[in-house]
Amino acid sequence: MDSKTLVELANKYGSPLYVYDTEKISSQYNRIINAFSKVKSVKINYAVKALSNINILKLFKQFESGLDTVSFQEVQLGLAAGVAPENIIFTPNGVSLEEIEEVAKLGVQINIDNLSILELFGQKHPEIPVCVRINPHVMAGGNSKISVGHIDSKFGISIYQVPHIKRVVENTGMHINGIHMHTGSDILDIDTFIRASEILFDVATQFENLDFIDFGSGFKVPYKEGDISTDIEQLGKQLSKRFNQFCKDYGKDLTLMFEPGKFLVSESGYFLAKVNVIKQTTSTVFAGVDSGFNHLVRPMMYDAYHHITNISNLTGRERYYSVVGYICETDTFGTNRRINEITEGDVLCFHNAGAYCFSMASNYNSRYKPAEVMIYNGQDYLIRERETFQDILKNQVTIDIS
Ligand SMILES: *Cc1c(COP(=O)(O)O)cnc(C)c1O
Repeated sequence: MDSKTLVELANKYGSPLYVYDTEKISSQYNRIINAFSKVKSVKINYAVKALSNINILKLFKQFESGLDTVSFQEVQLGLAAGVAPENIIFTPNGVSLEEIEEVAKLGVQINIDNLSILELFGQKHPEIPVCVRINPHVMAGGNSKISVGHIDSKFGISIYQVPHIKRVVENTGMHINGIHMHTGSDILDIDTFIRASEILFDVATQFENLDFIDFGSGFKVPYKEGDISTDIEQLGKQLSKRFNQFCKDYGKDLTLMFEPGKFLVSESGYFLAKVNVIKQTTSTVFAGVDSGFNHLVRPMMYDAYHHITNISNLTGRERYYSVVGYICETDTFGTNRRINEITEGDVLCFHNAGAYCFSMASNYNSRYKPAEVMIYNGQDYLIRERETFQDILKNQVTIDIS
């Protein structure tokens, strides 16, 4: 998106503001579809938690995408967006049997990631087909905060416990219709992915009546210049071939599934915030914006890098800044960044703000959550109003204290 349009949007809708360019979402979606065009049946389930505005979900419905959900509420959002229950998969972690039953009742595909729940569910509902989440114990990336496939991870059922899964299936008469893995949010190379896939194929051969294999996600997108990103075209080439071979050996055309979040929406998002103050200390020049980790927590929570540009001054000379928020805690968006000279009142743009940005926003410091705007067919649409003071007080119960 060009900077001039973004500044205009910040003026029109106010700041801070999230803007999503749906053309980018569409092109990322098509990249995956094209990369796997040689596989007979491919299904993408967009991971709702990355960006859960109902209009974004409606967009994915229009693409004929399914949804990957992790809570009953995300399932409800998907249904409210018009997505059919059979196009939704529920992949929670650590939720109660009751919540899984509630979701199953709606006709949503259940994915179970621990043995005790599998056994309880199988005993009560042997007629409902279930997918199992396997932990292949493959280390994806180096950051344990976002790698969920390794040995100490709380996610999935260990491949070493597959015999136990089979015993549960035998004892309960339940039907396993899918095998799933999700090795975390930072798969760096295709070899790691293929290695994990081989383990999954190996597990899959041990179950007779599968309909699909779900390879999860963890696809990487560039956040800054020089970042490696998942070469989806190369992965498509390698995995399609292997998958087709597997289906042949298995004797049935299974559906190949993915559930990307970040890959589909990260680059579509722009977070716009206005500079309130420039503050010079003995060692640093701070640019303080009208936002903080209440609106964009990834830099503080994951040390995530979000590229920052001054879209109000595209030609000014570059200077070094630390960009910080207005929260009464340390909330640094970026240190020592080279940014075109900043004047108070300028609008800064935080890139890659589509995934895990608004969806992780809070009301800390009793601030309003930002508004959201979606660019669709060249038009801008307000898809979430900025909160008001009523929202801050909502659900608070005033008791009589005199
Ligand atoms: C979060 C999540 C995803 C999406 O991960 P990305 O890194 O955003 O692609 C997929 N599957 C499951 C089970 C998840 O929890």
